[in-house]
Amino acid sequence: MKKLLLFITFITMVMNVNAQDNWCGTNSDESSDSFINFSEVNQNVPIESFSGLETYVLKVRFWDLNNDNGSNNSDNDLTELQALNAVAILNKNYNAFNIFFKYDGISEINSTEYQEIDTDPDTGNYKFGFRPFVRDNNLYLEGAVNIYSIGDILPSAVAASEGSGNENFKIIICENGYINDPENSHVLTHEVGHFFNLYHTFHCRTDATGEYVCENVTRDDTDTECFNANIKGDGIIDTNATPKVMTVDGNCLYVPNGEVDHCGVPYNYGGLEPEVKNFMGYNNDCAQEFTAGQVAVMRFVIKAIINESNLNWIVSYPVSILYEPYLGDYAPYYPHSTPWVHPHFQPGFDYDFVECGGEGDYPQPADYSDTSFYYDNNNILLQIDKDETDFSSIVHPNHSAIRILQFTNQQPRKCYDNYNSPPVIGGVVVKFNDNIINTNVTVTPKDSTSINDEELIDDLQPGLYNIIKNFENGDTQESVIYKENN
Ligand SMILES: [Zn+2]
Repeated sequence: MKKLLLFITFITMVMNVNAQDNWCGTNSDESSDSFINFSEVNQNVPIESFSGLETYVLKVRFWDLNNDNGSNNSDNDLTELQALNAVAILNKNYNAFNIFFKYDGISEINSTEYQEIDTDPDTGNYKFGFRPFVRDNNLYLEGAVNIYSIGDILPSAVAASEGSGNENFKIIICENGYINDPENSHVLTHEVGHFFNLYHTFHCRTDATGEYVCENVTRDDTDTECFNANIKGDGIIDTNATPKVMTVDGNCLYVPNGEVDHCGVPYNYGGLEPEVKNFMGYNNDCAQEFTAGQVAVMRFVIKAIINESNLNWIVSYPVSILYEPYLGDYAPYYPHSTPWVHPHFQPGFDYDFVECGGEGDYPQPADYSDTSFYYDNNNILLQIDKDETDFSSIVHPNHSAIRILQFTNQQPRKCYDNYNSPPVIGGVVVKFNDNIINTNVTVTPKDSTSINDEELIDDLQPGLYNIIKNFENGDTQESVIYKENN
């Protein structure tokens, strides 16, 4: 594991971004020659196979930068809908690889200085210090994907040599507009790729001799002169050699324009097309896929960090946290008091809320681990598509259990089957003294103990009564009874 420690410690920088890039950055290193030795990753795995491997669940915590007085600049207020939408997009792009994301809320940071991370107008240098600022003020969630929503930023580089090798958090800084804009839905997916140590598909690096070297086209590893796909470019062999700027047609296909690699080979030579559609390129309108090699590397990095006791910038949580609402509470009884915020679940998954019922006593809802309840997968009380846009509709109905169809194991969980009535908190016993319903009555107030006494009626003298029960939620129930002579 010592080797791993060495190659993780380079992660010290916010990436540089050119004018064509969206504005988000991750503190992965884009410019030094440090390089993760991806050769120890088995990159030769069919992309379908990842769904059968261990499930990883990461929390995503958003941080909304405000001015010192708590106000926001006009274009920089991160809403919960935006954040939920962003997490939904991440899930839709990563779930096939058994990587899941749990929305963990938005925290506010009041800092006029850092709301706009920008170049210093005097020096032209980038503002350093954001990472130490969040570290020293504990403004991060250890092991989570921490996303900082900032205001405008110049469409150029932010590079900052900040941080140390012994990391327990990693950050993504993103201009607010890129978190939610559907036109840029690939941006966070790209940044999270960096978060998991992926490089750009067109990545070039300076080698030990000072020469700037890019990845060559050939995949023939016996071609010792030209083959460098395992150590140059992004270090991933199944992402083809790719120029940074490409001409692309309307179908997201590469249009050759005479560009050749360092060996003089055209980028589309031998059926090897450049990575136009890859999330880790710069063809924003075409970005839609990862390769199996990229996924293998991301999963390798996740596993390595989880197993490395000195590094905590990735923490994987139990799957059960995805069955916890991000908002609201389960009503303890019906009819519940109003208004009531019911349990809401994050968008981005296909949910079936299927009929269920409890055999025995258990808490409401059932614990994740308790699957002893009855359920019927064919009786779906509420069905939610992963592309659902009305997030307020994703609410756990009473008498149903949750199935998340993205999981291989689709066992319904957390049966919520609540027939409880509100507690009776008091009442009165009205005795009709003439044994007919008129105004000649004797009224006896009852506290919660005596009104709930099972012997209440047995203990009454013969006659006509109205027993009025007051429920905790404000409802009342009246029962007129005639007690016979015993
Ligand atoms: Zn990037």
